[in-house]
Amino acid sequence: MIQPQPLLPPWFVPTWAFVMGSIIGSFLNVCIHRMPRGHSIVKPRSRCYSCEKTIPWSDNIPILSYVILGGKCRQCGARFSPRYMFVELFTAIMFVAIWQHFDPATAMVYTVFACGLIIATFIDFEHYIIPDEITWGGVVAGIICSGFVPEIQGAESHTRAALWSLAGAGLGYGVLWGVVELGKLIFGIKKVELPGPTEIAITPAGIRMADETETWEEIFSRPTDTLSFTAAAVRLGERTWEQALVRVNWQELKVNEETFPLDGLAELSATTSSIYVPREAMGFGDVKFLAAIGAFLGPKAIFFVILLSSLTGSSVGLFTMAIGKKSWGMKLPYGPYLAFAALVWIFGGAELTAHYFMGFGR
Ligand SMILES: [Zn+2]
Repeated sequence: MIQPQPLLPPWFVPTWAFVMGSIIGSFLNVCIHRMPRGHSIVKPRSRCYSCEKTIPWSDNIPILSYVILGGKCRQCGARFSPRYMFVELFTAIMFVAIWQHFDPATAMVYTVFACGLIIATFIDFEHYIIPDEITWGGVVAGIICSGFVPEIQGAESHTRAALWSLAGAGLGYGVLWGVVELGKLIFGIKKVELPGPTEIAITPAGIRMADETETWEEIFSRPTDTLSFTAAAVRLGERTWEQALVRVNWQELKVNEETFPLDGLAELSATTSSIYVPREAMGFGDVKFLAAIGAFLGPKAIFFVILLSSLTGSSVGLFTMAIGKKSWGMKLPYGPYLAFAALVWIFGGAELTAHYFMGFGR
C-alpha cells in the first residue's frame, strides 16, 4: 500500500530510505563480523583486519568508499570482502522496498525484521550458526512490535496481536523442532552410550566398533559438528595416551590439544564407554530462527515459510551438488532460505496464499 505523501516530493522517501539503509547496512556488517566472535558491536571503531589501523570515517562511507577504494585498505592495500558492499547495497534496496510498500508503522516493524534477517543470513553463510541475540532476541522483538503495531498480525487489539505473535513463535518453534527430531530418527543419528568399556577405532573413513563402521558422512552434517569421547587408553601409531579427550570433526582429529589431519590418518584405537555426538548444531539455530520469524509474521506464515524455504534450499543443494561444488561434509546453511521465504511472505506471499484459499472456497 502506497501512502499519500502530500507534503513531500515523490523522490524523498525512497532516497531517504536508501541512504538510511546503506548506513544501517554498514552497522549490520559490524554485527555480522563481530557477533559470532563474541566481540562488542559498539566498542572499538572499525579497523583494517590486516594492518589493524582504524579506518577513518571518510573511508567508511557506505557503498561509495568500497567503490572508490576498489575494496582495499587505503593504508596497506589489503582486500575487503565484497560482502561488505553487498550487505550495504542490499539493506539499502530492502529499505526502499519496505518504505515504498507499507504504511510508516508497518514499515518501521519490517525494517527491524529485515535487519535481523540480513544479520542471520550472512552469519549462517559463514559460520553455520545463528546467534541467540538474533533468534531469541527476534522472538522478543516480534512480540513487542506486534503489541505496538497490531496491523502486522492483522489484529485489532494490541493484546490479541501480541498473542498471535506468541502463537506464531510457538508454532514455528514446534513444527521445525519436530522436523529436526524426525530427521534424527530417520537418519539414525544418536548419542552412543556403550554398555561398558569398549574398543573403538577412528579411521579416515569413520568410526569402527565391533566390526561395524559408521562413516563420517553419516555422522557429520555440518563442518562444525564434532564427535568426542574420553578414553582411558588411546593409541595412534607409536603414540599412546592415558585418560585422553579425543575430538573428531570432518577435517581433523584432536587428542587433548594435539591436532592430526584426518586425511591419511593412521588408525587410532581407544577404549571408552560413551561417545558424545552433539546434534544441536544440526538445525537447532534454525528452529529458534523460525520462532523469531513466526513472532513477526504470525502462525499463518509458518507453513508457507517452511514449504518455500525447503523447496528453494533443496533446489540449490541439488544444483550445487550437480555442478560439483558441494562435498559430503559441506551441508548448506538453512537460515538464508528461511529469511528469503519470510521476505517473499511480506512482499506478497501472504496475499497470494489468501487468494489461493479464497479461490478454493468458491
Ligand atoms: Zn590495512
